[in-house]
Amino acid sequence: MKQTSFEKTILRMSAALVLVLLAGAFLTTIHAEASDDTIVYWGGGKRCHVKGCKRLTKDPALLAKMTKMTYGGAKKKGILLCSRCPGSSTPGKANPAGGKKKVGKDYGKYGRKGAKARKAWLKIPEKKYDSNTKVYCDALWMRVHEENCPMLVLKQKKKVITLGQADKEGWRIGESGQSGRQRCCFKGYRRNYPEKDISGDAMGIVQKLKNGKLKWHLAGCHRFTVKRDQTPMTLKEAKQARAYMCPHCVERGPSLTTADLETLKMRPTAPVFTPPEDWTPVPFSPHELPSKKEMNMLIKETLAQGSGIQEAVYKDPVATMEEFMGRRFFFPVGQWLAFYLGYRATGDKRILESLRVSARHYRDLCGKYPSVARQKAKNPEHMTFMYSMAVSARLTLQLARKHPDQVSQKEIAEAEGFLKAMVATLKPVCEGNDNLDPKMGIPKKLADDFRSRAFNRAANGIGTYAMASAALKDLQAIRNTTEYQPQIDLYQKCVQQWVKNWKSVGCLYTEADGKKYFYYPYGASEKPKIQDGLKFYGADDQGHFGHCMQGAMLMYDATPELGVDDDFMTAIANAIYHNSYTKNGSIQCPSADRIRPLSRHPFALPIDRFYMFEAFRDGIIDGQCSKLSKRKKAEKNSGYSARLKTLHAQYLKALRKDRTLVYLGETK
Ligand SMILES: [Zn+2]
Ligand SMILES: [Zn+2]
Ligand SMILES: [Zn+2]
Repeated sequence: MKQTSFEKTILRMSAALVLVLLAGAFLTTIHAEASDDTIVYWGGGKRCHVKGCKRLTKDPALLAKMTKMTYGGAKKKGILLCSRCPGSSTPGKANPAGGKKKVGKDYGKYGRKGAKARKAWLKIPEKKYDSNTKVYCDALWMRVHEENCPMLVLKQKKKVITLGQADKEGWRIGESGQSGRQRCCFKGYRRNYPEKDISGDAMGIVQKLKNGKLKWHLAGCHRFTVKRDQTPMTLKEAKQARAYMCPHCVERGPSLTTADLETLKMRPTAPVFTPPEDWTPVPFSPHELPSKKEMNMLIKETLAQGSGIQEAVYKDPVATMEEFMGRRFFFPVGQWLAFYLGYRATGDKRILESLRVSARHYRDLCGKYPSVARQKAKNPEHMTFMYSMAVSARLTLQLARKHPDQVSQKEIAEAEGFLKAMVATLKPVCEGNDNLDPKMGIPKKLADDFRSRAFNRAANGIGTYAMASAALKDLQAIRNTTEYQPQIDLYQKCVQQWVKNWKSVGCLYTEADGKKYFYYPYGASEKPKIQDGLKFYGADDQGHFGHCMQGAMLMYDATPELGVDDDFMTAIANAIYHNSYTKNGSIQCPSADRIRPLSRHPFALPIDRFYMFEAFRDGIIDGQCSKLSKRKKAEKNSGYSARLKTLHAQYLKALRKDRTLVYLGETK
C-alpha cells in the first residue's frame, strides 16, 4: 500500500494533533494494552511501534521522518505493533503466545528450527478442547493424536487416554514428522503441563561418528540407521561413555519402545566390498566402455550398497509402521537409484536381485498392513516407497519379453506379485470416478496435490507410476491378457497430467540460437512474473533440481510418449549446461539469468545426478566440473557415484538410438 505524499502529510498533521491531545495520557499508559487511540510510529512494512519500544529509534531526526498515526488507524491498514512494543499482543519473538497467555516455555532446547516450529504453533488461535477428549497414543514416540488425525494409523491397535491425562503425563500433543515439527491435530491447543523429557534410563543406541565422537540416539531417529551390530545403551550409560545426545532426539522427546535387533539380524545382508590394494579407481569416459576389470569393480561396489530398507524393527510392530509413515522416500532412496542405474549400465543380474530385496520387504508391508500402505501412498511424494517394486518389476519383465531365456518363471511371478501389491495399494488413490477433477480427469484430491506439491518432491513418485504402467504393459504381453488395462490407463493419465502441469508452470524458452531451455519453480503453485515469454519466480535450486531429474529420468525411460521425451530432456540438458558456467544456484535459461539471476541456495556444483544429461548434450560432465581444478575433477570423477553416473549416461545415449535397449552392452 503506497501512500501519496498528500496523504502522508494529512496523516502527519492529524497524528500530530492527536499526539498533542493525548501526550499526557500516553506516557502513563504505555504498559497497558495498546488502545486504538495510542499513537504509533510507522517507518514502512507491516509493523509499527509505540514510544518506549526498544526497537523504536531514539534519534529525534529519524523519529521525525516516521509516520505517526493512531493504532486504530494503523490496524485498518494491516499494520500491527511489533512484538516487543510495550502493551503489544502481536505474536513474535518476544511474545510467543501473542501476549494473551503466559507461556514461559523454553523452546531453546529444541534448537533454532525446532523452537521456530513450536513458536509458530502458538500463532494458531487458541482453541478450547474438552479435557475428556479421547486421544490415541502412538507406539514409537510419546505422542497423542485426535481421533480424526490424518497421521493416525492402525487406530484399533492403539491405547486410548484422555487429553487431560496426556497433557499431565507430558505426551506431545498433535505433533508429527521426523522431529515433531509438524502439527497434525489438536491445532490451537495450549498445554497446561510441560512435555516430558528423555529420562536417564531410556534405552537408546550409541552411534560412532566418522570423527570418532559418540552420539546417543533413540532408535527410530531419522539421523541414523539402526544396525544389527549396535549395542543398546541407556542415556545414563551413554553419558558415562562420553557420548553426546542427538539434538533431534531431544526435540522429538521420549520413545515408548526399543529396536528389535534380533529381528533386524534376520534381514538379508549385502556383501562387503574391500577395494583390492593394487586398484586405483579412475574416472570413466562418457563415450567408451571401461575395461572388464573396471566394470567388475563397479558391480561389486554397487552390490555392497545395502538394501535400502528404511525403517528399523521395533519390539512393538505398531511402532515400526509409525516409523515407516514418517520416513521420506522421495529423493529417491540412494541404494535403489544406484541399483537401477547400475543394472541399466551393466546388465548384471545380481544388481537386479539386490533391488528385489527391498521390493519384497515393501510388498509384504502392503500385504500385512494394507491400511498403512494406502495411507502412505496417498500422494506421489510418499508413494515412492514402492519405487523398488515398480522398477525391479519393469526390469525383470522387460528382460523377460526380450530375452525369455534369461528370466525364470519364478522371477516373472514375483514381478507380477510386486505389481499386484501396487495395484491394490493405489486403488483408493487413483481409481474410481466419483470425484474427478474436471481439468485433469483424475481424482480431485490427486489433481490438487499435483498442482500444489513441489515438483522435486513429486517427480520420483510420478516416475514410479510411469515405471509401474510400463511394467504392467510388459506383464500383459507376457500373460497374454488385457486384465490390467484400466490401471495402465489410469497411471499413464496421472503421469501425463502431472507432466503437463509441470510444463505449463515451468518455462520452456527458445533462445535466439534456436535452442530450447526448460526451468521451473520450486513451488508448484508459484505465480510467475512474465516478461517477454520468460517466467520469473523461485526457480528450483541445483540440489532439488537434481532430485527432480531422477524422476524425469524414470519417465523418459518408461513413458517418453507422455511428455518427457528426447526434446524435453534436451531442453533440460541445455539449462543445466548453461547453469554450470554461471554462479547461480538456481537453474534458469540464459535470457532469464541476464535479467534476474537467482540463487535459492548458493551455487554448488558438481552434482553427479546431472551427469546423465551428457546423453542429451555433450559437455555436461565437463560443465559440472568446470569450477574444479584438474586434480579435484579427477578426484570427483573417480569416485563410485560419479563413475556409476557416467556409465549410466552412456546407457541413456544408447537408449536414444535403440528404445528397446534393456542394458548397456546388451547387443554385444
Ligand atoms: Zn515495537
Ligand atoms: Zn495427529
Ligand atoms: Zn537422533
